[in-house]
Amino acid sequence: MDADVLVVGAGGAGYPAAFRLAESGRRVVLADPKGELGGNCLFSGCIPSKTLRELGQISVRARRLLSWPGPIDFADLQRQRDAVQRIRFRQHREELREHPGVTFLKGSVELLGNGRARIEGPEGITEVSAPGMILGTGTRVRRPDFPGAELCLTSDDLFSFQAPRIDLPSELVVIGGGYIGLEVASLFAALGSKVRILVRSDTLLRNVDPELVALLQGALPDVPIEFEAPIRRVEPAGRRRRVVYLVDGQERTCEADAVVVAAGREPVLPPGWERTGIRLDPRGFVATDDAVRTSVPGIYAAGDVNGRAPYFHAAVRESLVAAHNLMAGNRPIDRMDYGSVPVTIFTFPSVAYVGITASVARRQGIPTVEARSPLSEDSRAQMVQEREGEVRLFFQPGNLRLLGGWVLGIGASELINEIGLAVSCGLTAPDLARFPDQHPTTNEAISKAARTLL
Ligand SMILES: Cc1cc2nc3c(=O)[nH]c(=O)nc-3n(C[C@H](O)[C@H](O)[C@H](O)COP(=O)(O)OP(=O)(O)OC[C@H]3O[C@@H](n4cnc5c(N)ncnc54)[C@H](O)[C@@H]3O)c2cc1C
Repeated sequence: MDADVLVVGAGGAGYPAAFRLAESGRRVVLADPKGELGGNCLFSGCIPSKTLRELGQISVRARRLLSWPGPIDFADLQRQRDAVQRIRFRQHREELREHPGVTFLKGSVELLGNGRARIEGPEGITEVSAPGMILGTGTRVRRPDFPGAELCLTSDDLFSFQAPRIDLPSELVVIGGGYIGLEVASLFAALGSKVRILVRSDTLLRNVDPELVALLQGALPDVPIEFEAPIRRVEPAGRRRRVVYLVDGQERTCEADAVVVAAGREPVLPPGWERTGIRLDPRGFVATDDAVRTSVPGIYAAGDVNGRAPYFHAAVRESLVAAHNLMAGNRPIDRMDYGSVPVTIFTFPSVAYVGITASVARRQGIPTVEARSPLSEDSRAQMVQEREGEVRLFFQPGNLRLLGGWVLGIGASELINEIGLAVSCGLTAPDLARFPDQHPTTNEAISKAARTLL
């Protein structure tokens, strides 16, 4: 089969480019062994985890505000998780029908070099020749190598489509202080489990501003965290699990109904990638520039597989950047702005950030002017009695151009979009102050913070 572009992987890094290229008249082959669009975000990541979080949020508010006494039916929550995934798989199939220029093959791609690939799936083997390629093969769960790691659950066990139902654990241990570990711990604590987190290093969220991490940690009193606690082994304890870990060189143990390990993710490279000549970065991800180009002309790598901004919305944008540059004959007419990708950690409460924040500015010697608005004064926060947290904005001195910001508390994941757009568009404190953020929404805290500087 001859195509103009082969897109490897049908997640956020893949299908947006496939659709865009087909809309511009290119012949596109898109392949994924799942046989569905949406990638791991839909299959086992963002959508199922945030469905459970939304439901957890409802139950937390109902219990606190309405004294709703009902126990949580975790099996029902898992059914609702699958139902939302089913809706989105259906929606993607409809989108695919609307793009006849995209030939979607269920199968795994092996790269053969020189613009050729072999796709093997249930329908057989298809050989494809395409001068353009977008690699969007994502990442997979990294399994740590301590004994008994196989006794632990991973995010795949909790969130994968139609994963075997699990019981809500009364006690849960989470191993790992990255965002997935924190989100899982916070979710189960909200659902009523007694949770503790064990972290190997002395800090959470290694790539996040330490000042913001400290704020978040202070806002998670329900989730005790033990730092510098490397795991020795996990072993069965009847129907429960025993975790043996080290503190100051001494073995300690704890038991729980379940253990979740969240030790990060590793890149998935399509078999045969070496034949293409693409280079990897020192961490093993595909090396790309801001135009999403690999070291080989005509081959792009979007989304998690390039390890630059491992979030669905970044993958979508990179996918479109790759499509635009392919459409321009491999000229870099479009580039990814990594400095304004918003990130949310969906704990209870959530925290979100974008651009240059306090410690990052200090580390890079960038002077900033700060503006804050505490959410204790926000009307919506008061309505649902979630008054902890703040909006904090960081501006360039003099012209008061917005460089970045963070939100801890209610609505963080929504507010950060407005802040991110303002960073990306180079807006200033007066611009933000003039904008009538809608009442009563927490966005009001953004213009309110900006007004403190004028
Ligand atoms: C538990 C969890 C929660 C998350 N929550 C969020 C969130 O709230 N917000 C957010 O922005 N991000 C979140 N993420 C991250 C998000 O899922 C990823 O950033 C996103 O899925 C990246 O998209 P992608 O297309 O690059 O890769 P993926 O979604 O991983 O898709 C890659 C696709 O490539 C396919 N593939 C692999 N090898 C081959 C091959 N050889 N041939 C053909 N196809 C192949 C795979 O089957 C897969 O479908 C979460 C991740 C996890 C694990």
